[in-house]
Amino acid sequence: MVIAVVTKRFIAGAVCPKCGAMDRVVMFVEGDKQFRECVSCGFIDEMRISHVGRELDTRVNRTPQERALDVRPVKLPDN
Ligand SMILES: [Zn+2]
Repeated sequence: MVIAVVTKRFIAGAVCPKCGAMDRVVMFVEGDKQFRECVSCGFIDEMRISHVGRELDTRVNRTPQERALDVRPVKLPDN
């Protein structure tokens, strides 16, 4: 399997949904897809990418209040 050079970045505070390890989850973009991968157990998951690429950098460490101030369309469970 050939993988292009990708930059993997740890997601601060992220918890692996599989093994529960914290700060072991990296995210990387390959083509137009974004993945998260747990370096502890090998769990890998494709994440949906919206048109807002900038969200990738901010989604982890922003509070809901800060998000609410953002005028960009953000998918929120609206019930
Ligand atoms: Zn894991």
